[in-house]
Amino acid sequence: MTIDLLAIAAHPDDVELTCGGTLLKSAAQGYKTGILDLTAGEMGTRGTPEIRAKESARAATILKVSWRGTLGVPDSDVQPSRQHKLALAKIIRELRPRTIILPYWEARHPDHYHASTLGYEGCFLAGLKQLLLEGEPFRPFKILYCTSFEGMLPTFIVDITKQYETRRRAILAYQSQFRPAKSERKQRVFLAIDELDARMDLPSSPTARNSVRPKANAGSASSWPSTNSTPVWIFSPATPAA
Ligand SMILES: [Zn+2]
Repeated sequence: MTIDLLAIAAHPDDVELTCGGTLLKSAAQGYKTGILDLTAGEMGTRGTPEIRAKESARAATILKVSWRGTLGVPDSDVQPSRQHKLALAKIIRELRPRTIILPYWEARHPDHYHASTLGYEGCFLAGLKQLLLEGEPFRPFKILYCTSFEGMLPTFIVDITKQYETRRRAILAYQSQFRPAKSERKQRVFLAIDELDARMDLPSSPTARNSVRPKANAGSASSWPSTNSTPVWIFSPATPAA
């Protein structure tokens, strides 16, 4: 299977929280989308890997993605190692996505910023003709970076007003993370979906705001993510718990 747009992130639910609306919108426009979770989220405070796998499959259905997979990197130990980069490059060669969405390269959680580097370097390796790796060499045309930080200025924001409610259902599919059992609700790090909405500063009828701010030194689109190509941030104003 080949796809048009692949979102890569460290843990199941990261993509839903940062760019789930963008995936929904792309699918509605006829693009084939996919999600690659680098880890199974086995170090999460709540939920077992088995529960999280069921939740992520449900969320993938809600987000209408054509493909979802897990790379098998150990949770809490995401590193841009040669081994992980090659495993990622193999998937890139199989799926041949034209566009990649990666986590922004600055983050509180080390897995998140390492996922950014691992994603970039894995995509680069996938295009090396001399690399002894299964599959035809392929390098995505564009890499976008998404973030959930409220304080940064994005290059552009995708308008997900029409996708907001469905994206919210995809987040809520992670019941173990956002709707834990009563006995677990005393845990400090619990981030309720209500609090998530509050952090987004949304009015009662949700309006997701979006804008585009191209960088002044935008260069040739053919110069695959070099310093003078146009970096793009997808901004989704919500802060994940992990
Ligand atoms: Zn995460």
